[in-house]
Amino acid sequence: MKQSRRNFLATGAAASAAMLTQVTTFGAAHQEAITKTPLFSAPTDLKITGVKSAYIRRGAGLFIKITTNQGLIGYGEGVDAVGGTHMLVQRFERMLIGKSPLNVHRLYEDIRKGGVFGGAQAGVYIAVLSAIETALWDVSGKALGVPVYQLLGGKFRDSVRVYCDTALYQNNLPTPADFAKNASEAKSMGFNAIKFDLDQANDPGKYDRYNWTASPKELDRMVKQIGAAREAVGPDVDICVDMHGKYDTITGEKVAKLMEPMNLMWLEEPIPAENIDAYKKITESTSTPICAGENHYLAHGFTKMLSSGAVDIVMPDLQKAGGLGEGQRIANLANLYYVPFAPHMVATFLGAMATAHVCASVPNFLIMEWQIYFHTDPMFKEITIHEGEQVTNSFVKVSDKPGIGVDLNEEAVKKYAAQGYPFFE
Ligand SMILES: [Mg+2]
Repeated sequence: MKQSRRNFLATGAAASAAMLTQVTTFGAAHQEAITKTPLFSAPTDLKITGVKSAYIRRGAGLFIKITTNQGLIGYGEGVDAVGGTHMLVQRFERMLIGKSPLNVHRLYEDIRKGGVFGGAQAGVYIAVLSAIETALWDVSGKALGVPVYQLLGGKFRDSVRVYCDTALYQNNLPTPADFAKNASEAKSMGFNAIKFDLDQANDPGKYDRYNWTASPKELDRMVKQIGAAREAVGPDVDICVDMHGKYDTITGEKVAKLMEPMNLMWLEEPIPAENIDAYKKITESTSTPICAGENHYLAHGFTKMLSSGAVDIVMPDLQKAGGLGEGQRIANLANLYYVPFAPHMVATFLGAMATAHVCASVPNFLIMEWQIYFHTDPMFKEITIHEGEQVTNSFVKVSDKPGIGVDLNEEAVKKYAAQGYPFFE
């Protein structure tokens, strides 16, 4: 092509401008190439390089961070049975370094079976494993570009219904008026299901400090408290009642019977977790649905409870019962007995969303626990990174982002980190 002088000059000017741009942004193209290179271009080459822990809530809340050779990071959370477990995390890290995080079930089984002679049936071992397993799902979802519910087989629902735990137990001897006020407040916040605790260690009506039988005065207090809550919110709000396993079988039977007119969604842990036969006795004695599971571990912890009809509803805590895969297994097992799945949840929004992925992935999901602290304690807003609202009108929208869809703001976590524990190191 014949080029005129005018064109030549124009081209030259453009070239000079381009060169100038190149000079002023030296290295930009290289940086852009790095940015555009998909981190998950070769999932088969993905390897775990680190499994680190950090703790909040004086050690009762565990965060796990899994790092990889491709820069992808996965987060998981464990609760309750996790205090003082950083050495256990280090032990599990040694079992995971160099492995592909994509084989979630296999790595989970390696760790679980690796501890069967050391207490891997329950407790701290399984709670820590739950946090690690969750982080494996998170990093796998990020590597493959899909949300965790997709890895779990897809979803039955886009949003997960939650009930609000009112935390009225923090009050000293709450009155029926306090119950009514808290119930109304939760309803006005948009919640259509709420939970109250009825066990009060300092109730002056108690027979004594160690006796597990509720006195007539205690029973009367319980009926008045829940009666006031029911009256305040009307018949359309679901009410759950928790006794934290603090009573004996005859008390469980009496409270369940007394609560029948209140039309509860469930009565939770009227007695301690261990004796399934005692649960069956209470469940068969009443029309109030009986719920248990937050102190049971693994699917094995639910087999007898389900096959014997000892409970009406199961409520495993996925941050301690074995993680997301085990949570789905428990839900599917319950489904075989036509029993609803209503997971306990006392984690941060990371654990809440992780649990929500499982709730979305099973047909028999009933409702998930939500905590008032998400609205009252600034820590729970500061330490997680996510898109959109945490909860809207009793529903949590299940994230469509790769992985869990909730990351940790490590700087904020550091601000609230438990003293005397490692911080992702
Ligand atoms: Mg409970």
